[in-house]
Amino acid sequence: MGTIKENLYEINKRIKASAEKAGRNYNDIKLIAVTKTVDTDRVEEAIEAGIESAGENKPQELSRKYEILGDAVKWHQIGTLQKNKVKYIIDKACMIHSIESISLAEEINKRAQSKDIKMDCLVQVNISGEESKHGVSPEEAMSIIKYISENCQYVKIKGLMTMAPFDASEDEIRRVFRGLKELSEKIDNENIENVEMKELSMGMTNDFEIAIEEGATMVRIGTAIFGKRDYDKKQ
Ligand SMILES: *Cc1c(COP(=O)(O)O)cnc(C)c1O
Repeated sequence: MGTIKENLYEINKRIKASAEKAGRNYNDIKLIAVTKTVDTDRVEEAIEAGIESAGENKPQELSRKYEILGDAVKWHQIGTLQKNKVKYIIDKACMIHSIESISLAEEINKRAQSKDIKMDCLVQVNISGEESKHGVSPEEAMSIIKYISENCQYVKIKGLMTMAPFDASEDEIRRVFRGLKELSEKIDNENIENVEMKELSMGMTNDFEIAIEEGATMVRIGTAIFGKRDYDKKQ
C-alpha cells in the first residue's frame, strides 16, 4: 500500500480506465471513500488529497466524525441503519444508501420533516437472493418505492444500492450488478412521482471495475484507499 494520496491516485486512474472501457464519462462516477474504522486524522488526509464524499456504516461513527470534520466532506450513510439510529445522522448525512423497509423510510421521513429537510435515499436491494445479504428483493423494492412516493414526501428516492456476494465469480458479480441496473430501468419506466432512478451505488474494492462497466454511478471504496481495516483499534 502507498500513502492515502498515492492510493487515491491509483483508484481514480482505475475508475477512469473502467469508464473508458465501458464508453462512459468518468465524471458520471462518484467515488465514495469508505472511512469506517479510519481515524479522523487519516480521513482529513484523504480530504486534503481530494476526496469529496465519505461513507460510514455506523451512524454514531458518522455523527462523531461529522462533529470533528463537518462539511469538509459529504457524508453518506452506507450500511444497515436501525430505526432508532436515524436521529444521529438525519442532519449530517447527505444520502442514506440503505432503505430496507417501509418502517425505516417512515422514520427517516418523520425525522427529516422535523428538521424541515428532504433526505436523498437509495433502496438497498438483494439481487443475488442470498439469505445472509441485507436488502430487499426486487419485487419489494418496487412496492417500497411506490409506498414512499405516496406517503413519505421528505424522502427523496434517487436510485438503488446493492452489494455483490464476497466470494462469487466475476460472472456472478456481473450478473448482480446488471440485475440492479435492469431493476432501476424497470422502476424508471413506471414514472413514479417524486422518484428518480439516476444513482446506482455498487462496487467496492474488489469489484468496482465490474460495477462501473455495468453502470455504477457511485462506487464505495475503503480498503484500496486506507488499507485493511483494524476493527479492534480504539479510535
Ligand atoms: C465497508 C463497506 C464498503 C467498502 O468495502 P471495501 O471492500 O473496503 O472497499 C462498501 N460498502 C459498504 C456498505 C461497506 O460496509
